[in-house]
Amino acid sequence: MSKVLVIGAGGVGSVAVHKMAMNAGIFTHISLASRTKSKCDAIAESVRARTGATIDTYAVDADDVAATSALIEAIRPKLVVNLALPYQDLNLMEACLATGVDYLDTASYEPIDEARFEYHWQWAYHDRFREKGLMALLGSGFDPGVTSVFAIWLKKHKLRTIRTLDILDCNGGDHGQAFATNFNPEINIREVSAPARHWENGKFVETPAMGFKQQFEFEGVGPKNMYMMYHEELESLARFIPEMERARFWMTFGDEYIKHLTVLQNVGMTRIDPVIYNGVEIVPLQFLKAVLPEPSSLGPTTKGKTNIGDIATGEALDGSGEKTFYVKNICDHEDAYAETGNQAISYTTGVPAMIGAALMLTSAWRGEGVFNVEEFDPDPFMAMLNEQGLPWTCEELAAPLAF
Ligand code: NDP
Repeated sequence: MSKVLVIGAGGVGSVAVHKMAMNAGIFTHISLASRTKSKCDAIAESVRARTGATIDTYAVDADDVAATSALIEAIRPKLVVNLALPYQDLNLMEACLATGVDYLDTASYEPIDEARFEYHWQWAYHDRFREKGLMALLGSGFDPGVTSVFAIWLKKHKLRTIRTLDILDCNGGDHGQAFATNFNPEINIREVSAPARHWENGKFVETPAMGFKQQFEFEGVGPKNMYMMYHEELESLARFIPEMERARFWMTFGDEYIKHLTVLQNVGMTRIDPVIYNGVEIVPLQFLKAVLPEPSSLGPTTKGKTNIGDIATGEALDGSGEKTFYVKNICDHEDAYAETGNQAISYTTGVPAMIGAALMLTSAWRGEGVFNVEEFDPDPFMAMLNEQGLPWTCEELAAPLAF
């Protein structure tokens, strides 16, 4: 009997519970709780219509540790899967510690008043989880998540050492809107407007946001401009693959997206500090989120593919000198929508969240303390990606990246 409690009824939470219901042998009982219960109910109804499975739904404010602990006590799950927002990570970890339950998430903690998403706040919980014999698995989405597992899989099967690593995240989907984000707009815009950071020769090098642009030909999508930016898996990868000379993260953005974002930044709409409006304190970025389309509403109109992968160069395991490999997944927005009612960004995050949860519940991945996905055997995760809708390929490239 493996009971799971998922918190967060957005696009990612929706995909995760649909996929859990499709793996009923592992997830024997699924509960979904979020701030707005009607969103949980709508997801439960979709899951019932698609799979016949019943999901229990609850309202909870995950920032209220006592209320969340009481809900966990009432349900007694083996695992809490946090698919709310990064702001809730520490409070949900506290609730798991208070109730003796394992924890999983897909995005590192970020303080609400500072756009600085980093792992050290959560790594600091390691001893408290270890002392209670509990496990917390951090960053089990696509990036972070699959991209980290790709790198560790390359180290296990192809490269003795990784000298350079580039993570390339391309969303070639078109949702038909002038401006919308594919996951939570507030988190997305904070991430994109933060300064870029990449790992080079043992330290992080900071450069202006969107300061480096590169065109790349993405299979299934075509040529796209991608921009170097910071992403939290660089922090965990630098820790777990310490020999890396350089690690970078790139994400594609269309010219329309950049144009809108630039204007929004210039007029102050992406500010995360409060301003007074009509005598009330509002945070401009939170207000902007309220007027932008909900990511979960983009599913029916989004067409095209995502293509996300790792390009790694290093010394080949078979002693044949320096080699470059490219591991990637291509995911179709319309296929993702047909299967779960959500577009591919939610799908590519929700499926690995389900896989990480499955590996924890079956003890294929087990430990006491706080862990990142890089610390476990990549093979069962990679096998489940192929079985659960995110098939991957690995090819050898003729040469390292020229940029
Ligand atoms: P959404 O904004 O669509 O959904 C978030 C959900 O969490 C909403 O239902 C929201 O409730 C709920 N929520 C927010 N605050 C609270 C709270 N205090 N208590 C209870 N519920 C709360 O986001 P997404 O589904 O797009 O993303 C979910 C998570 O996945 C985010 O942390 C995001 O950073 C992460 N992510 C990770 C990726 C990866 O590859 N690793 C990629 C994409 C996303 P309400 O509806 O009431 O606002």
